[in-house]
Amino acid sequence: MLTAVDGRGFVLFAPYILPESGRFRLLVREPSGSLREVERSEAVQGYLAIGFDPPQGGGVRFVGSTSLPKTLDEALQSRARALLSFFRARLGTSRDVRIVVAYRQASDRSRPSQYRGDVTPNGFALIRITGGEADGDIVLRYVQLLAHELFHLWNAPRDDLPDQEAWLHEGSADYFSWIAIAQLWPQQIDLAGRVEHALRDCATLLRGRALSELSAGDAMQVRYPCGAVINWIADAGIRGETSARSSGLAIWAQTLRATGPHRRYSTSDFMDNVRQKGPKTAALIQLLVNGHGLERWYRITRELSAMGADVRAGPPTPFAIRSAAIRPLVLSACGEIWGLGEDHDAIFALAPPTCAGFASQTFVRRIDGVELGSDPQAAYERVAVACTRRESLDLLLEDDGGSRHERIVCSVAADQPEPDLRVGRSKP
Ligand SMILES: [Zn+2]
Repeated sequence: MLTAVDGRGFVLFAPYILPESGRFRLLVREPSGSLREVERSEAVQGYLAIGFDPPQGGGVRFVGSTSLPKTLDEALQSRARALLSFFRARLGTSRDVRIVVAYRQASDRSRPSQYRGDVTPNGFALIRITGGEADGDIVLRYVQLLAHELFHLWNAPRDDLPDQEAWLHEGSADYFSWIAIAQLWPQQIDLAGRVEHALRDCATLLRGRALSELSAGDAMQVRYPCGAVINWIADAGIRGETSARSSGLAIWAQTLRATGPHRRYSTSDFMDNVRQKGPKTAALIQLLVNGHGLERWYRITRELSAMGADVRAGPPTPFAIRSAAIRPLVLSACGEIWGLGEDHDAIFALAPPTCAGFASQTFVRRIDGVELGSDPQAAYERVAVACTRRESLDLLLEDDGGSRHERIVCSVAADQPEPDLRVGRSKP
């Protein structure tokens, strides 16, 4: 609720102290010593600066803790100004912006830096940094956080949006923060690498499911990667369909402009604007939001590539095949799966501790005598057949307690492995 800003004062998240009804009086002591009464309409808007200069009008006001190292202070200020003018030029003006950086040195300097940011509807961005080990990329990572948060000054989410649509805000803040950095400081970001990472994460997490049908928990888990992918599809597709006369940022500008000062826009407003400029692009996004099946990843990459994007889908990697073999077995045994990982050619599953078969990190070595490490395709095919027939399979498992056999009846359908998605450049 209160964040100390060393040497300046505090930042109060005012909505937390507002009673739902009844009388309310909030007095804030100004740096001059006088008291200022804060109206409910102001307090409900988010952060308030207490004890230091209330940010004035006229563009950007940047205040850092007095302990914020000078080089970092200067770097963040100049980057923030450049980012704001980049977004302003493309999204239209926003009101005055207040950026407060609350910095403190970590007590244990060998720990990595920690940082997070929040934006409230009154145009206030609070960046909290606990400075730990300094490494070469640290300024860049702060700048990425800054760019993401500053984009939220424009795309502030409505609090009544369902979790299944959280991708709209988080994904756009991520994707357009990369775009801004790539245009302002091209040497400092591997844009294709970022998009590829998001695309692979989204495909692995979403697989054949529709975004709109995910549980709230799953929707929140995929909102960053799948949201960035959708905004990238919008950007690349619209550029292709309009011969670069329009872009993803132009779609956002239009969405924000049409919805007035309260910015009450919804996912369907965004989609309507995409559809108007790029009907094919909108159809590809719909495939992720409402469509099903792994085939759509091939279609999305094929059509985007025809529109000029540098993307392709290749045959599944061995890890994707091993994952597709194990997933239905763990789901059958445990009801849910927490994760899959690999160590060289060995693959392990993580499941809830209540699941006897996979209670701790468990490697799956063989399925019905087939080595999963050396012959993933044959193992996957066995699983796919057994799952169709609801048959049991003999697994050779290995965990901290050694190796053991386990028989599991497969009771859920096996998904196909997802394709190997590549963006921008060839990899070995
Ligand atoms: Zn965010």
